[in-house]
Amino acid sequence: MPNLFLRGLPVTAAASFLLLLTACADAPAQPLATPSTPQSTTSTNALPQPVQEQLSFEQWRDLLRSDAIAAGINPTLFDRAFAGVVPNPDVVKADSSQPEFSRPVWEYLKGAVSPSRVARGRILLAQNRAVLSQIEQRYGVDAETLVAIWGLESNFGSNIGSHNVVRSLATLAYEGRRQAFWRSQLLAVLQILQHGDIAPESLVGSWAGAMGQTQFMPTTYNEHAVDFDGDGKRDVWTSQADALASAAHYLQSSNWQLRQPWGFEVQLPQGFDYALADPEVRRSLNEWRALGIRPVGQPLSTPRDDASATLLLPAGHRGPAFLLFGNFRSILRYNNSTSYALAIGLLSDALRGGNGVQGSWPEGDRQLGRSERVELQERLNARGFDSGHPDGIIGANTRKAIRAFQLHLRWPADGYPDSKLLDQLRQQN
Ligand code: CA
Repeated sequence: MPNLFLRGLPVTAAASFLLLLTACADAPAQPLATPSTPQSTTSTNALPQPVQEQLSFEQWRDLLRSDAIAAGINPTLFDRAFAGVVPNPDVVKADSSQPEFSRPVWEYLKGAVSPSRVARGRILLAQNRAVLSQIEQRYGVDAETLVAIWGLESNFGSNIGSHNVVRSLATLAYEGRRQAFWRSQLLAVLQILQHGDIAPESLVGSWAGAMGQTQFMPTTYNEHAVDFDGDGKRDVWTSQADALASAAHYLQSSNWQLRQPWGFEVQLPQGFDYALADPEVRRSLNEWRALGIRPVGQPLSTPRDDASATLLLPAGHRGPAFLLFGNFRSILRYNNSTSYALAIGLLSDALRGGNGVQGSWPEGDRQLGRSERVELQERLNARGFDSGHPDGIIGANTRKAIRAFQLHLRWPADGYPDSKLLDQLRQQN
């Protein structure tokens, strides 16, 4: 799903790389929803939390109904959409689960860019060449990127989820975390139904409300879904043309640059300063060249010399390295997961006939589980390397603390949390 949040877990924090690894290639990614709040959300959102918690689902629904009607939703439509809707305990469980272990990035990529997905993508690319070319002309987004998104979001439309979206969102808005966010998604879904794009009975999606072949959240749908096949409905569920064009429209508004690369694999010179491999360090392509960085092989497209890029070491200094450009950041707006964006880039390259990643992954490495990442943060804090509140998420503060500790040890300061580092902290504490 485009952007919003979290895939696999709703709403992932952007910077939390490890979190991203939980993304499952076969499950639709959750988009980060653009937090465009429908005009209607007023009274219930303003209720103090304890009061809201005391409401029964029926009371809460009736308050929502008043707000929705005030915002222009037809009462009959509201009642039809909510017919038989009660909270779904499976959705609450999925929303609150915090998996201890996540897949290493190389395993995630292996599933995401599997030979069978590449083969299927090439067939669909050929079959849909005409419409993809019209979409590129209108929105300036290339066919391979769109087919890659289609492939990862819904396995080319074959896995769009089977949850009742109104029920899922009502559950999350009533008792989930981030209730105001879910409520705005729920009101957006009512607007979609009122627009007549789809019947309430057909409105299915992921457990978290991501919809259709593009896995759009409702607010994202309202802003970016388009009717490309001209039948008067924006149908991301059953119309391939609408789904692909909607994804293109989304990327266009996220500043996609046609014919510019998402990124490419690079080789680093001896003695490279790994502190530069950080999402917050941006340099021009020329500056990276001056530091001795070279592409691995021939890139499939050539960026402008002044193109702004960041350097990513997804598995630390012992794994492959990638230079990432503006289009990578556009993919992150679709789904705020570094692993996801890397998978889209690599899958699109494979569809163009690329050779895949040439560097080797540190596959023998054991990944830290969530509680070990918390322990790592606690031990770093105890040693005076401030990683912020220990939450198991490897964000900017934790990377910085890891780097400082690595420098202290005279190790390569790549900011990557591995078991060797944790072992070292355990010995010294
Ligand atoms: Ca249509």
